[in-house]
Amino acid sequence: MKFTTRPTAEPFKIKVVEPLKVTSRQDREKAIKEAGYNTFLLRSEDVFIDLLTDSGTNAMSDYQWAGMMLGDEAYAGSKNYYYLESNVQKFYGYKYLVPTHQGRGAEHMLSQSLIKKGQFVPGNMYFTTTRLHQELAGGTFVDVIIDEAHDAQVAHPFKGNVCLQKFEDLIKREGAANIAYITVGATVNMAGGQPVSMENIKAVYALANKHGIKVVLDATRAIENAYYIQQREQGYSNKSVAEILREFASYSDAATMSGKKDLLVNIGGFVAVNDWDLFEELRNMVVVYEGLHTYGGLAGRDMEAMARGMEEAVQDEYIAYRINQVASLGARMEHYGIPMVKPFGGHAIFLDAKKFYEHIPQTQYPAQALAAHLYIDSGVRAMERGMVSAGRNKETGEEFAPKLELVRLTIPRRVYTQSHLDLVAYSVAELYENRKKAKGLKMIYEPRYLRFFQARFESL
Ligand SMILES: *Cc1c(COP(=O)(O)O)cnc(C)c1O
Repeated sequence: MKFTTRPTAEPFKIKVVEPLKVTSRQDREKAIKEAGYNTFLLRSEDVFIDLLTDSGTNAMSDYQWAGMMLGDEAYAGSKNYYYLESNVQKFYGYKYLVPTHQGRGAEHMLSQSLIKKGQFVPGNMYFTTTRLHQELAGGTFVDVIIDEAHDAQVAHPFKGNVCLQKFEDLIKREGAANIAYITVGATVNMAGGQPVSMENIKAVYALANKHGIKVVLDATRAIENAYYIQQREQGYSNKSVAEILREFASYSDAATMSGKKDLLVNIGGFVAVNDWDLFEELRNMVVVYEGLHTYGGLAGRDMEAMARGMEEAVQDEYIAYRINQVASLGARMEHYGIPMVKPFGGHAIFLDAKKFYEHIPQTQYPAQALAAHLYIDSGVRAMERGMVSAGRNKETGEEFAPKLELVRLTIPRRVYTQSHLDLVAYSVAELYENRKKAKGLKMIYEPRYLRFFQARFESL
């Protein structure tokens, strides 16, 4: 067979392997039934290809594992902390660092330090934990993302951009003193991993500065965002991802970070700031909630792995591979005519279950059913993002019927090969071909909180 385009190979080779259990269709039918047709309730060892999340599922390199052996587990002043600090300064440019056990630890402390009760916190679409911590601190989140981000089909190279008009209107309406800060998430997870342009964050920073408002970057996937800028924005094609990241972060005053995504580790996070007084406040607070300011809930070895992961994550070859692996899975499925959210995001492909299973009414949870069927067909574990996740209206008790009824295929970093993803595309295509025969689900157990984690279903 002659290739039509030059194949790109993974820029690493495999040194240690983790065997996967190969199961039969019968095994999987039994397992999903026992799990109440909820992929969250499957045992990981019964899963062949796990695309539930890209959070903490990264494969570490030999360089990172070697660093784990150099963990300095001193209670105070671990050398791994100072190395992590110097890398945060080098790659992101912030002056001061407070490590945390993961991203939400950083969000908690920053929200508590900066938000006064009754203040507004604008942001480019919410993220679950980010918004919750803002609310717990007495703030009110205001979505100021561009309208395009809420439409699954519209094409836009930087669908995560802040709408400057919405931000300015909020300042006019509420007054700058009533705005705690603005968060810019890059890429935007809840919009499907959509990037923010350099031009946009620069303009946001200028506008915020004019009114004395701080810009907080949710830097969780900012390296992936920098790659999109290199590929799509004028004037950046000759710059390295590391240079772009540094410039991008320079248009913010502080950052919260979940190292479990971009930074190629299984656990870790941090908050980084430029303001000494804020640093002092965070350094006082971290002792209460996470641990001493030189470990923040992490072992020395975890800080070393994160510092080293940072060095690897900004390499152009790595990040190109990462984003293109996700995009090529999307392209293969597009070839089979599979309905998906577009453009493809940096960390996941979203199947449009409403279009996929047109004959299954939303009240029979087509996305939940599709995720279950995918598991039965090939042992691939995905996640529902539709009616089950949306839950119920607290006042009326009625189920929300969200516009988007999606199945998320999230790609862990450096974990699966091209052939694994070929199987995913093949399996989705097979389900699509036989879609008319598919049946919906009935909920038989509904937990009170965040029901998608533990709800149980029966096949209709
Ligand atoms: C995962 C995530 C967080 C929270 O980080 P955790 O490490 O899971 O606590 C915050 N923001 C974004 C955009 C994320 O994807």
